[in-house]
Amino acid sequence: MLSVLTRFTLLICLAFVAAYIALANWGPDIAIPAGLVVLAIPLVYSYINLARLRKYVIQDSVENMPLPSGFWEEVFFRLQRLVRNLKQEIRTVEKQHDRFIEAFQASPNGILMLDDQDQIEWCNSIAERFFGLNFKRDVLQRINFLIRRPEFIQYLAKRQFEDPLLLERMGADANLSLMLQAFPFGQNRHLLLVQDVTDLQKADAMRRDFVANVSHEMRTPITVLMGFLETIHTLDLDKAQQDQYFEMMMSQAQRMKSLVEDLLTLANLEANTLPAPMQSVQIPTLMALLKNDAEALSQGRHALNFETSSPCDLMGEEREILSAFSNLVSNAIRYTPDVGAVTARWSVNAQGQGEFSVTDTGPGIASEHLSRLTERFYRVDRSRSRDTGGTGLGLAIVKHIANRHQAQLIIDSMPGKGSTFTLRFPKDRVAC
Ligand code: ADP
Repeated sequence: MLSVLTRFTLLICLAFVAAYIALANWGPDIAIPAGLVVLAIPLVYSYINLARLRKYVIQDSVENMPLPSGFWEEVFFRLQRLVRNLKQEIRTVEKQHDRFIEAFQASPNGILMLDDQDQIEWCNSIAERFFGLNFKRDVLQRINFLIRRPEFIQYLAKRQFEDPLLLERMGADANLSLMLQAFPFGQNRHLLLVQDVTDLQKADAMRRDFVANVSHEMRTPITVLMGFLETIHTLDLDKAQQDQYFEMMMSQAQRMKSLVEDLLTLANLEANTLPAPMQSVQIPTLMALLKNDAEALSQGRHALNFETSSPCDLMGEEREILSAFSNLVSNAIRYTPDVGAVTARWSVNAQGQGEFSVTDTGPGIASEHLSRLTERFYRVDRSRSRDTGGTGLGLAIVKHIANRHQAQLIIDSMPGKGSTFTLRFPKDRVAC
C-alpha cells in the first residue's frame, strides 16, 4: 500500500506530466485545464465513495458494503471491521443484560431499582404484582407516589435501611404480608428487595395461637385442681364427700393427661413427613377393638352398629389407623344424645377405594364450620366438647393420619340430621 504522501506526490507529478504533454501538443491554453482534470479525478472518485458510504450508513449496513478498490478500500475495510466489532460487543452486552433481566424475573422476590430521585428505573413482574405497578407505565415515576403507605414513605424518607420493613394487607386482595428492604448501590441508587412473608406470618400467628390455646386448655384443669388442693384440708369431709372430690380431681387430671397425649400424638405425626408404611391392618380385629371401646364409652346409651361389608384389609400403620378410627367413633358417641344411633362401617367402593365411615344421629354441624373442623382446638360448641372430655385435637389428628395414608376425610353433616365422617383410602392401600 502506498502512503498518503507518495500518492499525493504521484498525483502532482501526473498533473504536471499531463500539463506538459498538453503544452507540447496543444499549447498553454490546454495545459492548465489538463493538469486540473488530472487533479480532479481523485476528488470525484472520493466524492463518489463518500456518497456510497453515506447511503450505507443511513441503511445501518456499512459492514455489508462492497469494498471499492484503491485508497478507499483500506478505509472502508477498517471501518467495516470497527462496526462489526462494535455490533458484536453490543450483542454480547445485550445478551448479558437479557440474562440478568431473566434472572431477576425468575426471582420469587420482588425487585425494584430506584435512581437517585427514587424513581423506578426497573422492576420485575413480581414487584409489579405486589404493588399493582406496570413497569411500562410507571417507569421513571417516583416510587412514593405509587406506593402510598405512610410507613413505606417514612421508611424511604428516613434513609435508614439497616432493618427491613413489614407491609401488611398488600396486593390486589390486601391479603399479602411483604417484607421489604432497600440496599444502596451506585451513585445514590437503591435496590428494593421485597419478599412475600404471608405464609411465614400465618405460621407465626398459628404458632402463637397454638401456644395460647394449649396454655388456656391447661390452665382450666390446673386451676380447678389447685382450688381443690388448697381447700380440701380445711374442710371436714365425710367419706362420700371425699370420694366425690377425688373423683372431680381425677377427672381434671384425666383431662390434662388426654390433652398432653393428644399433643404428643400430633407432634409425632407432624414430625414424620414420610408416608405411612404398608403394613397389613386386619379390619375384623380392628372393628372388634373399636366396638369394645365404643360400648365402654356409650355405657348402653346408644344403639351401636359395626358393619364390615368387605373382606379386604387396609395397608397402613395399625396404631395410627386405630387412633383415627376410634377418634371418629368416640366423637360420634360423645356428640350423639342418649338413645341415638352410631354406625361404623368398613367397605370398598366401586373404584376399589377403602372407606371407613361413622354415621350418627347427633346434632349435625352447620356448613360454615365444616372446613374448619380439622383445625387444632376448633370446636363448634366449646362447652359440649369439654363436657364430653374432648381436647379439640381429635379431628386434627385424624386429618394428619389421613394425609400420611393419602386418604381423604369427607364430612357430610347437616344441623338436626346427624353426621357422617368418612375416611377414603386409595385403591393401592386396600388388600383383598
Ligand atoms: P373435640 O375433642 O372437641 O371433640 P375434635 O377435633 O374431635 O375435638 O372435633 C372438633 C369439633 O367438631 C368438636 O368440638 C365438635 O364441635 C365437632 N364434631 C366432631 N365430631 C362431631 C360429631 N360426630 N357430631 C357433631 N359435632 C362433631
